[in-house]
Amino acid sequence: MKFEKFVVPPLNNNAYLVWDEKTNEAIVIDPAQGSDKLLEFTIEKNLNIRGIVNTHYHFDHVFENAKIKKSMNAAVMMHKKDVPYYEKDDMSEKMNNGKFERTTVNAELRETDLIKFGQEQLTVMHTPGHTEGSICLYSNKHGIMFTGDTLFAGTYGRVDLPGSDADKMKKTLARLADFPTGTKIYPGHGKETTIEKELEWLKKFK
Ligand SMILES: [Zn+2]
Ligand SMILES: [Zn+2]
Repeated sequence: MKFEKFVVPPLNNNAYLVWDEKTNEAIVIDPAQGSDKLLEFTIEKNLNIRGIVNTHYHFDHVFENAKIKKSMNAAVMMHKKDVPYYEKDDMSEKMNNGKFERTTVNAELRETDLIKFGQEQLTVMHTPGHTEGSICLYSNKHGIMFTGDTLFAGTYGRVDLPGSDADKMKKTLARLADFPTGTKIYPGHGKETTIEKELEWLKKFK
């Protein structure tokens, strides 16, 4: 499994392109406004984007789902509990002068679903708190986790937004504290970290 991080607008989002080197099948995690960069890289490396996975429905993460879906014929996926928010959320229009192309969600995700691309896969973990349907994507084999706005280096995501739940966030953080300490964390904003580096504060939620 290989991946590349792109730091892109609108809120210094981390968009990840993850692929299987053997088959060149790829997925995008949270395109944000990075479709030009992502597609350019995809063509350069001869990758085939099969899916777009959103860690949650927020406008900054889903902004260019439609652009990538159209050009690569990729399936849009997010947790089923965030789909209703995505379908009615008007933040994307507001933040972009009414210009936002909404697209349909092709697959509603649940806990333990597997996102497969080539011979690689990521496991869906339902980690509510920041939103009802926030997910983290985990690879046991590679010891990596993509955490969206659930876990950042040094902190966790806001719990005062529509669909947020502070109690659920506590349970989610307690769950993350139990992962192997060497697990590398790739968040939706900011720099990467590890469970070990965050454990000091994470374990207070246990
Ligand atoms: Zn968010
Ligand atoms: Zn965000």
